Amino acid sequence: MRLSRRGVSLGVEAAFEVMARAHQLERDGRSILYLEAGEPDWPTPSHIIEAGVKALRDGLTRYSASPGNPELRTAIAEHAAERGLRATRANVIVSPGSKLAIFHVLLALLEQGDEALLPDPGYPAYESVATFAGGRAVTYGVHAGRADGIDVAEIASKITTRTRVLILNSPHNPTGSAIGARAIEALAELACRHDLTVISDEIYSRLTFAAGGMPTRSIGALPGMADRTVVVDGFSKAYAMTGWRLGYGIMPAPLAAVVSKLLNNSVACTPEFVQMAGIAALTGPQECVTAMVDELRMRRDLLVGGLNAIDGLVCPTPEGAFYVWPDASKLLAYGGITAEALADRLLEEYGVACLAGSAFGHCGGPHLRFSYTTSRQAITTALERLREALAPIV
Ligand code: PMP
Repeated sequence: MRLSRRGVSLGVEAAFEVMARAHQLERDGRSILYLEAGEPDWPTPSHIIEAGVKALRDGLTRYSASPGNPELRTAIAEHAAERGLRATRANVIVSPGSKLAIFHVLLALLEQGDEALLPDPGYPAYESVATFAGGRAVTYGVHAGRADGIDVAEIASKITTRTRVLILNSPHNPTGSAIGARAIEALAELACRHDLTVISDEIYSRLTFAAGGMPTRSIGALPGMADRTVVVDGFSKAYAMTGWRLGYGIMPAPLAAVVSKLLNNSVACTPEFVQMAGIAALTGPQECVTAMVDELRMRRDLLVGGLNAIDGLVCPTPEGAFYVWPDASKLLAYGGITAEALADRLLEEYGVACLAGSAFGHCGGPHLRFSYTTSRQAITTALERLREALAPIV
């Protein structure tokens, strides 16, 4: 059978493979600490579960509208006002996970050879899908510990006449850095000047430590940006709903119409009982989100402190999301080992699941990514095992 070149060369997100391996090791009787996957370790809040179960009992088990349930789309549009966005339900598309929203939006925007500017390190799907869609991925750097994480001048220098899309992600996976208000303004100005469409992936917008769980102003709220911005968000992170698969995009209505057609042709629709749970998440009590941010802050401080106490690791304190991104260059140089080999060894010999930086792009090389979506007790044990594993190297 002949396979398409774009199918064969399509990239994947390594976290899923490491997670599968870690679960297999646990089934084989090993004690595993899970610091690899980007998903909250606590259950979905019960009022959200109840809404989903009630919807199932009420018979919402059939096909539904491709762009999403009108009530949920309206709730999302209203909720977006928190970020300064002015949207109606005509601007909102619901999808099974924000990952699919990103996929469809890139398919709808890119022509063959169009350039998409995207972060390296960055969420792997951006580059995989931009390339799959026929575009050319052009990367800009993101640096943990630097104000804004990005350098606007570097991004400006990479814009060409073929640049069509600028993908931003703040707070950022994998570094946890966040782009401040002034840099956002400068980026909006660049987008307007060069007629770029901005895809602003704001899936971690509720997980900002300085703002205590309140999202900051979106780039889409700035003058001239409403018609050129796609805001991507979802329920996975803020409401611990990764397995429900529920995400959305807020975008200009003509783009929403194309994305709706793509949904019609791919998944047909997002399960409606899941969307009912989404309405409960957005319109119900929000204490679950603030409690999560408080807990994550404690875990972050514990993990950052512990990693910095290990010789050969430098770990800046992230501003948001739930990842740390230590630079292991010194340790790797002492040990003559790659980050991939180190991450493998940590999992296979010490039961600590984490990701090598290269899972997030070429610039990730000398880094490791640890997700602190596991208990403080587990983080403490992981740090003990890391000290044991790394002491012979340094
Ligand atoms: N964007 C970023 C930056 C992410 O880290 C993730 C999940 N790891 C997603 C999008 C996708 O989330 P979901 O499909 O679960 O909504």
